[in-house]
Amino acid sequence: NRDLKAKLLEINKIAATYYYHQLKAENGKIGLSYLQKRGLSDTTINRFGLGYAGQTGNALYQYLKSKGYDDALLKETGLFTYERGIHDKFWNRVMFPIMDINNKVIGFGGRVMGDAKPKYLNSPETKLFDKSRNLYGLNAARISRKSNMIICEGYMDVISLHQAGFTQAVASLGTALTPGQAALMKRYTDNVLITYDSDAAGVKAALRAIPILKEAGLTTKVINMQPYKDPDEFIKALGAEAFQERIDKAENSFMYEIGVLEKEYDRIDPAESTKFEREAAAKLVTFREKLERENYMRAVCDRFHIELQGMRELVASLGSKE
Ligand code: ATP
Ligand code: MN
Ligand code: MN
Ligand code: MN
Repeated sequence: NRDLKAKLLEINKIAATYYYHQLKAENGKIGLSYLQKRGLSDTTINRFGLGYAGQTGNALYQYLKSKGYDDALLKETGLFTYERGIHDKFWNRVMFPIMDINNKVIGFGGRVMGDAKPKYLNSPETKLFDKSRNLYGLNAARISRKSNMIICEGYMDVISLHQAGFTQAVASLGTALTPGQAALMKRYTDNVLITYDSDAAGVKAALRAIPILKEAGLTTKVINMQPYKDPDEFIKALGAEAFQERIDKAENSFMYEIGVLEKEYDRIDPAESTKFEREAAAKLVTFREKLERENYMRAVCDRFHIELQGMRELVASLGSKE
């Protein structure tokens, strides 16, 4: 098994180098100009080892066969498909090698250069690649010496953030954040800033990530990207300084949760505002320590114009003992 993993790492490295050379070759120009159009410098492209998978049906397969790797082994890489003959899984895409914390390539993501679907294609889980236990960009972020980590959704978010100097950015790559990923971050930091997309899916993902991060012992804040969709678009539009301002203004994750909750109610209607206050109270009662509970009660009542004494009584009635 150890031997197999070593072999797979070796093949992934060859594949990453292959894609990288294709990006720099004459017929990889379409890939290179796509990445440049998205604002990536040559330094950034090289630092992340980006590449290009060309049009040909099984060029990578042939290349690896010519190096003597056998079919059983190649099947384990996840780089090929086996319907109606053997084909390269990735073609006509810009390629993002996914590395583990030791800078070893464990998988790939590939993006189409236009609007075709699927937009991204990722390596399947293999003996090397366990999506729930890796974070894109962590190999670079862990040595960034910043006081926090920034968790975002996608490849381009991480790369844009790093290019803008936010080298503490990592991505969970479209999957819901897992406890394994949270534990991984906790090895390197105590503070996580969530910068998921501003759309409904991103808000939902943030709400799911908050308790997982908290459970791992991480202090969590949420960065607001509005009116932009994600950190990549934000930085492209407003630049690094504006992003730093958003970091400085990042919101306490509990206050963020209550803010999302509040939007579900039309509080002009007393029935709705009653429901909202009950929901807020139910969340506030989970703070076991009196001081902390009191501080959060004040903050919530201030921000949402709720009468403090009434909220205190409501929370007390829900069973806070202290
Ligand atoms: P871009 O900026 O290149 O358009 P994005 O990162 O903003 O891409 P999102 O749709 O926000 O794209 O998706 C976030 C991440 O989720 C992607 O970076 C990718 O890792 C993953 N992802 C997106 N679409 C797919 C897909 N169809 N299949 C698998 N993973 C995907
Ligand atoms: Mn998204
Ligand atoms: Mn996005
Ligand atoms: Mn994007």
